[in-house]
Parts: sequence; C-alpha cells; structure tokens
Amino acid sequence: MLAFLLSFVIVTIGTILPRNAWFGRQVSRVGEPGHHIWLTIDDGPDPLTTPALLDLLDSHQAKALFFVVGQKVLTHPELTREIARRGHHLGNHSLSHPSSQFWSLPPWRLWREVAGCQQALQQVLGHPATWFRPPVGHHNPFLANILRSLGLNMMIWNCRGFDGAWRDVDAILRHIARNLRPGAIVLLHDSTPIASEVLDRVLQLMQERGLRPTLPLEKKETELPLPFSWHP
Ligand SMILES: [Zn+2]
Repeated sequence: MLAFLLSFVIVTIGTILPRNAWFGRQVSRVGEPGHHIWLTIDDGPDPLTTPALLDLLDSHQAKALFFVVGQKVLTHPELTREIARRGHHLGNHSLSHPSSQFWSLPPWRLWREVAGCQQALQQVLGHPATWFRPPVGHHNPFLANILRSLGLNMMIWNCRGFDGAWRDVDAILRHIARNLRPGAIVLLHDSTPIASEVLDRVLQLMQERGLRPTLPLEKKETELPLPFSWHP
C-alpha cells in the first residue's frame, strides 16, 4: 500500500510540475554565458495577434522561439512561413493543444499530438522542429521516448507572468520582472487580447536590464541536463 501511494505521488508530481525532469531530459534555463535570454511565445500562429508581435520583435531587433500548434500551422501556412522569414525559430507545441488532458494521454495519442505537429511543420516549412514544449508544461513517463524517436528536445521555462490566463498587464509584468535575468527562458503567449502589450513591455524591460534575446543553439539530446541525479 505504501509503495503504491509513493509511486502515485511520484508520478503525480512528475507529471504536473513543469520544471521537474524526472521523465526525460529538458532545458529550463539558458546555459550560454553572457546576458542571454530566450523569448518563447506559445499557442500561435494567430492572424489577429502574430503580425503585431512580429513587428514589435523587429522594432527591437529581437528574435523569439514560437511554439506553435500544428492545427493552426495548417490553417495559417503563410503566417507560419512569415514567422520563419523574419528570422525566428518555430517549435512543436502539439497538434491540437489538449491542455486539460495532455498529461493523461496514452502513448498512441501522445504520438499523434507530437508527430502530427512535426508533420504540419514539415509540410508548411519543409522541415520539422527540434524543440518541443508540452501544453501547459505537463508531461508523463511516455513522452521522453516519443520525443527521442522524433529527434525533439523538451524546453520548459523559468520566467513567466501567467499572461495566458491573467489580463492585468501590470501584475503580469511584476511577475515576469522577478525572474527576468541572464539565463531566463521567458514564457509568453500569442493569441490573447493583451499579447502585444505584454510583449512590448517585456522588450522594454529587457532593454532596461541590458538583456539580449537570442535563439537557442541546437542541442543534441545527450547534451541536455540528466533527468534525475543524486548529488552525494
Ligand atoms: Zn500552450
């Protein structure tokens, strides 16, 4: 009984906490030295919001990694290509973004979500992604093998302001400001009514703090942090 409870607790914590790496290698901070940060923008592309985000990034000469949803990629192929044309990277954020159930999907449905987005990117851009971010950051023990077999690495974050749920831009910025420092992987969201206002203020704050948004170097899976290690 105790063993069952213990394994239940381990699986639950490992599944729901985005920044644990018990179920596979992942990146949750920028490892490169200097004042680098990575800006990541989830849930697009969206014709109502993405064009303004691209213009803001251009005006600050900043690059971002857009974690896109496969079904939206197929619906808006030209906008998807425009993101790449402007020099940004595109990552895999699942085919349909099943946020409430992603952590509980069986392996065959996880495969469909991850591989389906890879196929959409291949079809529209001519190549698949190398980075994956799970919807709402939840993952389960089956995901690591699927990512490995598709050549994907998982990227989480260490700086966010809950802009996918909150609408108070001042509160969002206060939250982001606490962790906006060298090494930050900033999580922002496309496709919200406040998306461009949040990005504009984050770009200004980065400038004030002398931080440079860069794009991640492509890393091999073996170069990523180990899933779990004891430090005696
Ligand atoms: Zn998302």
